[in-house]
Amino acid sequence: MAAQTEESDTAREQTKAEQDVDQVRQRAARDQQRLDSGAVTSPKDLENLQKEIVSLAKRQGDLEDVVLEVMERRETTQDRVAELTERVGAVQGRIDDATARRNAASEEIDAEAATVTKEREVIAGVVPADLLKLYDKLREQQGGIGAAKLYARTCQGCRQELAITELAEVRKAAPDTVVRCENCRRILVRTAESGL
Ligand SMILES: [Zn+2]
Repeated sequence: MAAQTEESDTAREQTKAEQDVDQVRQRAARDQQRLDSGAVTSPKDLENLQKEIVSLAKRQGDLEDVVLEVMERRETTQDRVAELTERVGAVQGRIDDATARRNAASEEIDAEAATVTKEREVIAGVVPADLLKLYDKLREQQGGIGAAKLYARTCQGCRQELAITELAEVRKAAPDTVVRCENCRRILVRTAESGL
């Protein structure tokens, strides 16, 4: 934006410099017409008119140099605007690309969440009501995890190894008994890898 502002400022400066040249050129042309018309007869006036034409020609030359200098500066700012515009385009392209990838990932996550929610409903439907109630209560108390796998004698919820006496009780418990971690109180899920 700063480069664009500089470019339009320089464009205005160029227009102004060109108008200055035009004014001097027109005045010189008027003087030349008066000289050529023969209307001015006094030698003093003729001399003054000729002097003015010479001085206007010099002034025009100086102003034309100003126009050239401004044009050169404008060209530099135009190059800078073009370069920056290209960079903006490249960065915008990366933003668009990242946004598209984020949206695709978001859709995938939504779809997965919908599937998992459905799966949970099916499973919850066959779990006895009192067990589900206990599980939901524990889940609320224990940071979203109400049941944990017992793996190699360790509760995967709190990462504490079970004491020998506790292990013995778990070992003795019938398969459909709800066993819980002595440390975190989560429901322990027994598997072949529980180390019992
Ligand atoms: Zn535990």
